[in-house]
Amino acid sequence: MSREDQLRIAVFGAHPADCVWNSAGTIAVHARNKDRVLVVPVTYGARHCNPFLAPTKEEGYRPLEEVKTRKLDEIRKACKILGADLLQLDFKDQIFVGNNEEIQKITDIIRDFRPDIVITHHPVDTAFSDQPDHATTGTAVMRAVKYANEWGADSTKPGWHVNTVLLWPARHNTAMYRVTPYITPANYYVEITEVIDQKRQALRCLEGSMLATEEAADAIINAMSITVGGAAGVPHAEEYVYTAPFVVKRLSRRESGPHRNMLLPQGWTLEEYERLFPLDR
Ligand SMILES: [Zn+2]
Repeated sequence: MSREDQLRIAVFGAHPADCVWNSAGTIAVHARNKDRVLVVPVTYGARHCNPFLAPTKEEGYRPLEEVKTRKLDEIRKACKILGADLLQLDFKDQIFVGNNEEIQKITDIIRDFRPDIVITHHPVDTAFSDQPDHATTGTAVMRAVKYANEWGADSTKPGWHVNTVLLWPARHNTAMYRVTPYITPANYYVEITEVIDQKRQALRCLEGSMLATEEAADAIINAMSITVGGAAGVPHAEEYVYTAPFVVKRLSRRESGPHRNMLLPQGWTLEEYERLFPLDR
C-alpha cells in the first residue's frame, strides 16, 4: 500500500551497526509516519571489530558463516524495533572496493526500491584511517545514485532519479579513530527525541558490534545528545550533510527546502509561523 505523500528512504551502511548508530531515530520517525524505510548494510561487518570472531580456547576460530548468521539475526531484530525493512548484502567487509559489480548491485536496488531519499556515508569518511569501508560505501552509493538514472546503465530495470542524498558527516577526528584528513560539518538535523527509546533498544540488539550492553548503548545516546543534539538545539538529534546547494532568485527570511521542516519555536503552530513569515517573501 502506498500513499501519495509516503516517502521511500533507503539507508546504505557499510556495516549493520552504522545504519542503527547514525540513523535509527530518523528511521523510527519515518516508520511511525508510515513511510517506507529500507535498511541496506552492504556487508555483514563480520571481520571488523567483531567479538564473535575472536578464537576461543575450546573451539579455535569461529567460522565466518556462523558470525554472519548471528549478525544477521541482530540487525533483523533492530530493524523490527525501528519498523524498517532489511536487505542485507554480502560484500566482503575490509576487502570490498566498490567495483563494477558492487555498484551495479546497488544501482539495481535503487531502481527496484525507487527511493526519494538515500542516506549513506560521506565518501571521505575516515577514508585514510580506521575504517575504509565507510568511504568505499559512500563512494559506491553516490555512483550508483547517478548510475541509476543513466541511459547507459547496464540494467534492464527502469531508471530512477533519487531526489535527495543525505550523508553521515565525517567527524571522527578523535584520537580513537586516529586522523582523518577531512571533516565535513553537518548542516541538516532530524530531531529524534520522541523515538530515543527505540534507538536505545535497537542499539542493544547489536552484540556483534559491541553496542549491546546498557552502558555502551547509553554512552552513544549520551555522547550524541551532547554533540549532535547540542548542535541542533534539541535533546536528541541525528546529523547529516545535505548534498544539494540551495539556489534562490533573491534572499528571503526563510529559505525553501529542508528548513521548511524546521523545528518551530516553542508554542508556535506551523500555521501561525507561516502567517507571519510566509515562505515566498
Ligand atoms: Zn561501520
